[in-house]
Amino acid sequence: MGKKLAIATLVLTICLGFGTADAQKKQSYKHTVVLDAGHGGHDTGAIGKKGKEKDVVLSIALKVGDYLKKNSPDTRVIYTRDADFFVPLDERAAIANKNNADLFVSVHANSNKNTKPFGTETFAMGLHKSQGNLEVAQKENSVIVMEQDYNTKYEGFDPSSAESYIIFSLMQNVYLDKSLKLASMVQDEFREKAKRADRGVKQAGFLVLWHTKMPSILIETGFISNEEEEKYLMSESGQDYLASAIFRAIRDYLASLDAEEQEVKKATTVAQDDTEAAQSTLCYRLQVATTSAPVANPIEKFPGKPDVFEYKDGNKYKYMIGRFATLDEASAYKKTISAEYPDAFIVPFNNGKKISMSDAKKLEK
Ligand SMILES: [Zn+2]
Repeated sequence: MGKKLAIATLVLTICLGFGTADAQKKQSYKHTVVLDAGHGGHDTGAIGKKGKEKDVVLSIALKVGDYLKKNSPDTRVIYTRDADFFVPLDERAAIANKNNADLFVSVHANSNKNTKPFGTETFAMGLHKSQGNLEVAQKENSVIVMEQDYNTKYEGFDPSSAESYIIFSLMQNVYLDKSLKLASMVQDEFREKAKRADRGVKQAGFLVLWHTKMPSILIETGFISNEEEEKYLMSESGQDYLASAIFRAIRDYLASLDAEEQEVKKATTVAQDDTEAAQSTLCYRLQVATTSAPVANPIEKFPGKPDVFEYKDGNKYKYMIGRFATLDEASAYKKTISAEYPDAFIVPFNNGKKISMSDAKKLEK
């Protein structure tokens, strides 16, 4: 921020009062993403022949943030660290929770005693399914011993003991599906666009993802222990490829959230309008479908049909089309749709509730 702009902002902030300015700032962002560059400061992370994990992942995370700021200006970017300093694992999650982030993305680089392995993999929180996955989590979690009071803070968790990881099998992860979706979008980008070897989407007990209250992933961008991959990870162009791939996955994931939200809004708006109109009058509708789970967008399910209406009946969702004041009109419409919906039948409604045909006849008189 330039000095002039900083002063202007300060004046504005004082005039409006801090609360107002802060609220306005929040409103102008649609989403918040927390970018977490692993390690930092005295915690170097994995070490290669020339590079350190903490430096490589900071560069990549900052580049992801730049892409987001430039191309998705309605997304707020928060870094857990934007320079070379140490941040405890629990604080990283706390930053994301405090800011009500929509996503938490932790960026790391892998290493192995064997210098052969290479490629990218992305993790969601959960119990490991293989020894290899457990070892990745153990390595990343081992940094907590550099924190004070780690025994209390992490509830006696011992990063090196395999038994400690059993707690993750009991964990209810409500964000798992979403985390896995984002993880696979990242891996798709790595494989298809950045042309990196794809080691897949995995699960393991990473402490940094333990207490986050939003979809969260940990990305291993490559093996710093592999000479070729270390070169790539340390190069400007390699970091650009990886960062732009992560950026696109985040952007597309957030866009898919927006699309889902729009669909829900559209469906509820229609249903509400219809309910209001149906409040006081008798009408007849044609029932054309019954499902046990609600249809995401009923209007698209019955294209071109008038007055699509969802009615929850016990544990079933019933879908109606058309809305007629008399039984004769409803019967006439039923004939016109008989080829498409041979099983359609007429259901009378009064005050927005389903009623019997005999009650409807009484009301019609
Ligand atoms: Zn790491």
